[in-house]
Amino acid sequence: MEPILQVRDLHTSFLTSGGEVQAVRGISFDVEKGKTLGIVGESGSGKSVTSLSILQLLGTTGKIRQGSIRLDGEELTTKGKKEMRSVRGSRIAMIFQDPMTSLNPLIPVGEQVGEMIWAHDRSISKAEREKRVIELFQMVRIPEAEKRLRSFPHEFSGGMRQRVMIAMALACKPELLIADEPTTALDVSIQDQILKLMRSLQQEIGMSIMFITHDLGVVAELADRVAVMYGGLIMEEADIFDIFARPMHPYTMGLLASIPDMHQDKRKRLQPIPGSPPDMIHPPKGCPFAPRCPYAMRICQEEMPEYRKTGENRSSRCWLLDPEAPQDGNPFRQGKEAAHE
Ligand code: SF4
Repeated sequence: MEPILQVRDLHTSFLTSGGEVQAVRGISFDVEKGKTLGIVGESGSGKSVTSLSILQLLGTTGKIRQGSIRLDGEELTTKGKKEMRSVRGSRIAMIFQDPMTSLNPLIPVGEQVGEMIWAHDRSISKAEREKRVIELFQMVRIPEAEKRLRSFPHEFSGGMRQRVMIAMALACKPELLIADEPTTALDVSIQDQILKLMRSLQQEIGMSIMFITHDLGVVAELADRVAVMYGGLIMEEADIFDIFARPMHPYTMGLLASIPDMHQDKRKRLQPIPGSPPDMIHPPKGCPFAPRCPYAMRICQEEMPEYRKTGENRSSRCWLLDPEAPQDGNPFRQGKEAAHE
C-alpha cells in the first residue's frame, strides 16, 4: 500500500541575524496509511520544523531548501499558499500542545467546530452541522455532548479542550493528523486518556498519525514506528518493538536509559543526556552526536556516517554499525579519552 506521506531528502533552514540555521538536514521517512509514526527527539532536534515544513508554516524566515513531500502521491512543496491553505485543515489536520492558542475564547466550542465543517462544505445546513458536531463530540468522548456545544473554551478542562481540538481536527475527515506534543501540558492521567482516545479513534476510523514528542512514554503508547531525530537528522528508525527491545544507535540508547522497565513506568520523561545539542548554524561535519556520545571514535568527528539499513525494515546512522569503518579509538570503552587514545 502506498504511504499517505512520503518525505524525501528534506532540508529546511531559517535565516537569523546570526546566520542560516540548518534545522532539518536531509531526512526521509514515510507515514503508512492507518498507522502512527512517532518522531522523537530533544528540543532543537528538528522534529517540529519537520511538521511545520510539511504544513508550509515556516513563517517568513524559514525555507524548504531541498526535498520532496508527497501526500498520497501528490507533491506539496510546489503548491502555492492558497493551495496549501486548502490542504491544511481538509487533508492534513493539526493539533498542538496548547489548545487555547487555536480556540477562540469568545466563541462557543460547538460553533467553532461547526465553522470548520462549514468551511469545507458550504452546502451543509445549520441543523446538519450541529448534528455532525454532536457526533464528533461523542466520538471524542465529551460527556453530555449536546449541552457542551454552547460552552466556551474556558469552561472546559485542559483535557476536554484537547478533545475539542481532536473533534475539530476530525471534522473534515483528514487523510493525516499531525499532533505536535498534544499531551505535554496535561497531567499524567489526562495524558493517558487522550492517548487512549487517539489510539481507539485510529482503530475506528483508520486515521494516519504523525506524532511529535520528546516523551518516550507517549511513543510506547501510540506509535507503530519511531523515527529518532538529532541535529536535524534521523538517527534511527524502526518499528516500536525494535526501538525498545533492540536500539542500535547510541542516542536512542541514551534516550531509553531513563526507562529501566517500560512496562512499569511508561510515563517517565526522557532524561537529558549530558552535553548540549549541536550548533545548527555551523553543524559539525561528522556525527552531530559525537561530542555527547560515549562510543565516539576518531572518524565520528571527521565524517558523517551514512544512513544505512541495519535490519529488516530498520535503518540507523552510526559508524559503529559500519563493519568497514576504521576503529581508531575503542568504541566500547566509556569516555572520550578512550576514543582518542
Ligand atoms: Fe556515537 Fe560515532 Fe555513532 Fe555518532 S557515529 S553515534 S559519535 S559512535
